[in-house]
Amino acid sequence: MTASISSHSEQNVQHAPLAGVIGWPIAHSRSPRLHRHWLDRYDLPGDYIPIPVRPEHLSDVLRMLPKMGFVGANLTIPHKETALQIADIITDRAALIGAANTLIFHEDGKIHADNTDGFGFIANLKQHAPDWSAARGAAAVIGAGGAARAVVASLLESGAPELRITNRTKIRAEQIKAEFGAKVVVYDWAQIGNMLDGAHTVVNATSMGMTGKPPLRVPFDALQSSALVTDLVYTPLMTDFLTEAQTRGCTVVDGLGMLLHQAAPGFERWFGQRPEVDDALRQAVL
Ligand code: NAP
Repeated sequence: MTASISSHSEQNVQHAPLAGVIGWPIAHSRSPRLHRHWLDRYDLPGDYIPIPVRPEHLSDVLRMLPKMGFVGANLTIPHKETALQIADIITDRAALIGAANTLIFHEDGKIHADNTDGFGFIANLKQHAPDWSAARGAAAVIGAGGAARAVVASLLESGAPELRITNRTKIRAEQIKAEFGAKVVVYDWAQIGNMLDGAHTVVNATSMGMTGKPPLRVPFDALQSSALVTDLVYTPLMTDFLTEAQTRGCTVVDGLGMLLHQAAPGFERWFGQRPEVDDALRQAVL
């Protein structure tokens, strides 16, 4: 990272700290429930609110929030990429991914942008599949959007020896190869089944399978039962993709834990308490 980030408690702010999630629309976000659960659990002063902001107003709002008592914010669609153009300090991982999901407002007014999606992705796998290690074999990532970029960065950082990727729009996968280097191998969308041959980690990073969208249909014949299969989609928790992998004997991990874990670093920096990701939190968010 380019700089260390002091926690809110170190900043000695005189008012109850505020944080929130900024998106357009924002009503669907589960982040307020998540952070309020932690505020209640640790009996901390402060609040976390949903903030609807139109794309053209993001810059003005971000400059105003620190003056209103906000110590930071999460970002969701459509602001994750634009925020990097507004931030004053950008962590290396946010720059590599090309998007920010967590902002810390410094006392001098500077906006610090980070991306914790990859951290959340790996922490979820470690929690629910403790024997899994990225370094043990090739990873296969389906999708090449913003979330896929965070997944690719974190799998490579965790030691994946080969990173296979496919995407409906191939040029986005090729762009990832151009940026992330020689370990990345691009497969045609039609070769998705071949991509799974011998893969140790398989990830759905598309939005396919979400409630209201068609399921992601993948020929699983080449999939080994020793593979770990995970889905970033968490509504529903068990997607058809995960159910099919489970029937083939694979270890499967749903995407909700990624959402919970990605929130922890921001909460710690804003409210000064390292929060726990446990079943009570899962139930609160569900
Ligand atoms: P995004 O940037 O919009 O990317 C969407 C991806 O889905 C692209 O690869 C896109 O392919 C693919 N896709 C969409 N419709 C498709 C279709 N009909 N057929 C094939 N591919 C299709 O979105 P994102 O931010 O990366 O998010 C992707 C998913 O991850 C979403 O469901 C999101 O909710 C989830 N997510 C979960 C977490 C978590 O904490 N669990 C965190 C972040 C995101 P094209 O490039 O061809 O359009």
